[in-house]
Amino acid sequence: MKKHNFSAGPCILPPSVFEDAALAVKDYDNSGLSLLEISHRSKAFVQVMERARELSLELLGLKDKGYKALFLQGGASLEFLMVAYNLLEKKAAYLNTGTWSSKAIKEAKLFGEVVEVASSKDANFNYIPKNYTVPPNVDYFHCTSNNTIFGTQLKSFPDSNVPLVCDMSSDIFSRSLDFSKFDLIYAGAQKNMGPAGTTLVVVKEEILGKVSREIPSMLDYKVHIGKDSMFNTPAVFPVYVSMLTLEWLKELGGIKAIEKLNNKKAELLYNEIDRNPLFEGFVPHKEDRSNMNATFNLKDDAHKENFDLLWNKANINGLNGHRSVGGYRASMYNAMPIESVQVLVEVMQELEKNA
Ligand code: PMP
Repeated sequence: MKKHNFSAGPCILPPSVFEDAALAVKDYDNSGLSLLEISHRSKAFVQVMERARELSLELLGLKDKGYKALFLQGGASLEFLMVAYNLLEKKAAYLNTGTWSSKAIKEAKLFGEVVEVASSKDANFNYIPKNYTVPPNVDYFHCTSNNTIFGTQLKSFPDSNVPLVCDMSSDIFSRSLDFSKFDLIYAGAQKNMGPAGTTLVVVKEEILGKVSREIPSMLDYKVHIGKDSMFNTPAVFPVYVSMLTLEWLKELGGIKAIEKLNNKKAELLYNEIDRNPLFEGFVPHKEDRSNMNATFNLKDDAHKENFDLLWNKANINGLNGHRSVGGYRASMYNAMPIESVQVLVEVMQELEKNA
């Protein structure tokens, strides 16, 4: 029986995507060949790559606005340094909202000066800093839109006159934003897009080519753009599955449609976390709570054994919190049906009844 999968990533994908992906592995488009055994230069795969790139821009509302979409490898972790390699000449500003922001900062420091404009480290990253300003004399400002581990999410982004770079690994395609505000967006595929193994980078071309250092080919966004994201053999399977998921999202009505569903799922769960006397949310300020990853704790660990038993019995998977936070984390990415969230809420209510 299929589990209710609250895993933080790699994570749930739409059932139709799993089915179509499995078919393509056996026999791609009735060609008598598996998707995995055809050349990445074949017409069939070039079409897949082009469609995935086009859908990314279309869904973000960035078509014909000077942006290029790339499907690269090395995960979001490689983007931590590629961003700095390509954009950091002297000084960059970073907002530190968690483990992933901190890792991005660490890499950027190898390339120049980093100004940390604000940090929520003082409270184990359980809030989003608000009153900070982006200095005008930096090469770019970097932030993480959704903090997968701590369950916080930026609801607004600063206005400034420097390029805005954002790690959207765990909430891309989940909510409406004015994406044209951003100059570079990156996201590992393994949350709202596809399997691990490829990273979407959406970059405004005009911000590139301004640093004086030489950039190795594989790390140079301009090289990847020049080769239509085929400088070397791309991750064919992750790109194909991402394309399927983006088609699924488009058919559903795009980001606006999924956002409504995501809001309903998050409301359902957070209402229960706040109502149920046995639980408390990890993120105290409601406006900072993530709609993708809800982090919460039992107020009294005496209930842990029973709660763990109940959710396992209810066929739920992946609810344990990250080791740096503890407690529980329910990840509710785009493909998660609201029915699964309802099952979790019922388990929480059952625990209360039995307590
Ligand atoms: N940024 C965020 C927000 C993430 O959630 C993750 C992974 N969970 C990463 C970066 C790192 O991604 P990767 O493992 O693909 O390098």
